[in-house]
Amino acid sequence: MPHLTNNKKPMSGKENVIKHSSENPFESMMSRFDEAARIIGLDESDYNVLKAPQKAVIVNIPVMMDNGKVRVFEGFRVVHNANLGPSKGGIRYSMDVHLDEVKALAAWMTWKCAVVGIPYGGGKGGIKCDPRSMSKGELERLTRAYTDLMVDVFGPDRDIPAPDMGTGQQEMAWIMDEYSKLKGYSSPAVVTGKPLVLGGSLGRVEATGRGVMVSTRSALSKLKISPVGATTAVQGFGNVGSISAKLLASQGMKVLAISDVSGAYHNPEGIDVEAAIAYRDSNNGTLEGYTGGSKITNSDLLELEVDVLVPAAMEDQITAENADRIKAKVIVEGANGPTSASADTILNKKGIMVVPDILANAGGVTVSYFEWVQNRLGYFWTEERVYRRADRVMKTAFEAVYQASIEHNCSLRIAAYVVAIGKVAEVEKLRGKFGL
Ligand code: GLU
Repeated sequence: MPHLTNNKKPMSGKENVIKHSSENPFESMMSRFDEAARIIGLDESDYNVLKAPQKAVIVNIPVMMDNGKVRVFEGFRVVHNANLGPSKGGIRYSMDVHLDEVKALAAWMTWKCAVVGIPYGGGKGGIKCDPRSMSKGELERLTRAYTDLMVDVFGPDRDIPAPDMGTGQQEMAWIMDEYSKLKGYSSPAVVTGKPLVLGGSLGRVEATGRGVMVSTRSALSKLKISPVGATTAVQGFGNVGSISAKLLASQGMKVLAISDVSGAYHNPEGIDVEAAIAYRDSNNGTLEGYTGGSKITNSDLLELEVDVLVPAAMEDQITAENADRIKAKVIVEGANGPTSASADTILNKKGIMVVPDILANAGGVTVSYFEWVQNRLGYFWTEERVYRRADRVMKTAFEAVYQASIEHNCSLRIAAYVVAIGKVAEVEKLRGKFGL
């Protein structure tokens, strides 16, 4: 995938997705946490420690805009838990960013890192802004000022940001540069998802989509469905959605529909994903005007009769309101939190296998970990090594979650929480409850 500048960032499709409910993402996370905590018999002290984030920082960031006026942006960084290692998680630029969302996303990072067994805790950051309406200069000033305010939060052994919705390699380069300047030495390991020339890792851009593909293969094999000829619909055509679609197609799957901010596109013969990506990249980052499929709505896409549905846009897309109309056999969650807690019950009843976000999209943070390792080693791996190790991590994690779901007779989602909470609670017992 070509390097993306800020002016041509592919859209996630989020502006066009349907907000079915206003379920609070933190409460959604907590209801799964509660269920898993009951299954593992988590004691009350552990429960109380793990439910609340360890740290939540709110900053007001003054930025000189191109018109000479100063605007103040609200920024957040939440460290949910740092038992397993420094906290890790992306930074989101979106007008929807708010504290409860960042808290939920930070907790999901804790569980995600624990599920795949990488030595990190969970954190997340966000700035309430509309990056698409800002110039590159404004975004640079915003990112640097946010980094200045977070200099005591971030650190290669403390808290390590990465890209998320609305941010990419360029923002990570600015964070790395600003942090290094403040420290007085080059500190590439403070942030991951950097451009390759600045200490990024081969395979990082594709990592989340690749993990989605590997998880899809694992799920299909449990259901004894061959990927060759299996059908899929992918919601969202940003980094995660577009690369997931491309890699699923490379496995012989037929991508019946894709979507982004401009709408959803359906082609019963199969979308030519490479062509759609090329079209998006030549069209200011959007599929607007794409003719490789007929226009349908995002709800239509979610309700298509496919083997695999990949929601890869944003939170709360599958809810109690539409869950009953979902026809996919498997849902592989490329986005964080695309299914609300109330929808889980309905999907379970319908027998739909859901590969949960904290497992399905963990390929990204796994390769972030590899990037951090390479930065600290000062030695860089081949793409082949990155892929081989990341694939192994994803397959092993899927199997562990699958076995836990059999053992506890629960969904893959609750099983993933069981695995994750069990690990974090064990480490908490060993370390004691009070330190970062
Ligand atoms: N933002 C990504 C996620 O939600 C990546 C986080 C990271 O690499 O630290 O998993």
